[in-house]
Amino acid sequence: MTEPIERFDQLDLQAPILEALAEIGYETPSPIQAACIPHLLAGHDILGEAQTGTGKTAAFALPALDRVDISKRNPQVLVLAPTRELAIQVAEAFQRYASKMPGFHVLPIYGGQSMVVQLRQLQRGAHVVVGTPGRVMDHIERKSLNLDGLTTLVLDEADEMLRMGFIDDVEWILEHLPAERQTALFSATMPDAIRRVAHRYLRDPKEVKIKAATATVSTIRQRFLQIAGPHKLDALTRILEVEDEFDAAIVFVRTKTATVELAEKLEARGYAAACLNGDMTQQLRERVIEQLKNKALDIVVATDVAARGIDVPRISHVINYDIPYDTEAYVHRIGRTGRAGRTGNAILFVAPRENHLLRQIERATRQPIEALKLPSREAVADKRVAAFRQQVADVLESEDLGFFLDVIAGMEEKHDADIRELAAALAFLAQKDRPLQMPETGRPDIAQLAAGKPDRPVRDTREPRENREEILERRRDYAEGRLARYRIDVGREHMASPKDIVGAIANEAGIESRFIGQINLFEDYSTVELPPDLPNEVLQILRKARVRQQQLNIRLASPEEAARERGRPGGPGRGAPAGKKPFRKDGFAGNKDFKPRKPKP
Ligand code: ADP
Ligand code: MG
Repeated sequence: MTEPIERFDQLDLQAPILEALAEIGYETPSPIQAACIPHLLAGHDILGEAQTGTGKTAAFALPALDRVDISKRNPQVLVLAPTRELAIQVAEAFQRYASKMPGFHVLPIYGGQSMVVQLRQLQRGAHVVVGTPGRVMDHIERKSLNLDGLTTLVLDEADEMLRMGFIDDVEWILEHLPAERQTALFSATMPDAIRRVAHRYLRDPKEVKIKAATATVSTIRQRFLQIAGPHKLDALTRILEVEDEFDAAIVFVRTKTATVELAEKLEARGYAAACLNGDMTQQLRERVIEQLKNKALDIVVATDVAARGIDVPRISHVINYDIPYDTEAYVHRIGRTGRAGRTGNAILFVAPRENHLLRQIERATRQPIEALKLPSREAVADKRVAAFRQQVADVLESEDLGFFLDVIAGMEEKHDADIRELAAALAFLAQKDRPLQMPETGRPDIAQLAAGKPDRPVRDTREPRENREEILERRRDYAEGRLARYRIDVGREHMASPKDIVGAIANEAGIESRFIGQINLFEDYSTVELPPDLPNEVLQILRKARVRQQQLNIRLASPEEAARERGRPGGPGRGAPAGKKPFRKDGFAGNKDFKPRKPKP
């Protein structure tokens, strides 16, 4: 490699892939992509170590797509991933990257999905198969997955597969694949067991490790906010509003598309904002910077590349709206503030899955990043009222109000109104376009969510607290198969609480709360223990039931999903079949005469 890789078209990828990337809006390859893609295109094996969120999927998917022969219908690429979610995510990424390759097929296969459906899909053919180890083994054994034409194998999140106990399955699969193939192994960490697998099954691999850069950035106050994607925009506007030192900001996002979208949203909310990305001509970009300098703009939403080297002393804040891939990018980004001897502010949004990146940045910059407390609705309102008062006070002090006093006197007479009421009406008018109060949404305030957000699943906090005996009994119920674990499509990001979930299940399906076992909340889904033999009618009601506007789509958790909770109290035990004891208020235990209550309208 002679020149640093800054654009995807510097990589030797087919035109349709480059077109798809341009459409998605990726501007520059992430470090792991820049390091791996040339090796993979050259046919080497790869042993890649990089944290979550660094863009590993494209690092293996793009070169893999480059080799796929669309005219052949047999699987040429196999990706093993630890969980169903990841398998689906990776398959979706392949689909997106291949959007300009007509006829391309990718198939995710995982446990919990109907075998019949999977067999049919496999028969139809797919160029890329992404699967969990257990299910892939099944299909190899049944000979429903023919891997004779396989050219590329990817082990994604290898340490996670190890942690979940899949390593033997993975090795078994490796033994059953054609020897003439390319293998790429990606992992966030490199425990010995993974190294051993790599030595055994990879041929002279190129090792790529994305290391953390170090730097000192002491004139910059660094803070982070733990916040889920859907709340980022609200959080950003709140922060901009209450930060005392705010003058101008650069907001960093990952894609060109996101720069445009976010700048538009900020404009719609009354901010002087514009985007800055690599699609814009040099001239346009320079104009944006000029406008930021002369205060025609206060906010620029940018990608890393486009913002490189910007030197505008009035930038008081750098907002990392999307977390950067690595500490080097972080250091570059926050260096846009705190210039010319001023102090600067760097604020980092961290989604729940990205905690490790936060710690990595802290370690590398050798500076703690403090938690930012997101101002509550009331605090924002207070701030607005204070500013409003100040404006009124300034006017009282410095303006000649003679004409207006006459207008008011006339109104007082005509409407026979109290002077305070008149003043209130005027205040109302004055704030109409930018209201002093924040709208009541009926949902918990994002400030609360952001403040108390634990990293791990929330424990069931139903009130009143159950006694130990009851809890133990539920544990026994689970172990003995009287309860099974189901999955529902509502989680923390929807602001659901265990109480909401119990409420919905109890009310909609008439299931008594003592038959509702443990509930574990995850980011975008939850698991809940219920009797294993729920009749179809009840399941149908529960599938359609909603919590926080989210349809539950309840279904039995797959073994992988249940395995994820292994080690936690109540972790999976697939015990004896259920004893029939009635679990509904009407004494119903799953017999055929049951007529479900109509779901509420
Ligand atoms: P990892 O597998 O390392 O956890 P992913 O492949 O899931 O990371 O990528 C994380 C996120 O970054 C995804 O939303 C992906 O679309 C985005 N992403 C990946 N590569 C790029 C890129 N070159 N430019 C912008 N965004 C990217
Ligand atoms: Mg990944």
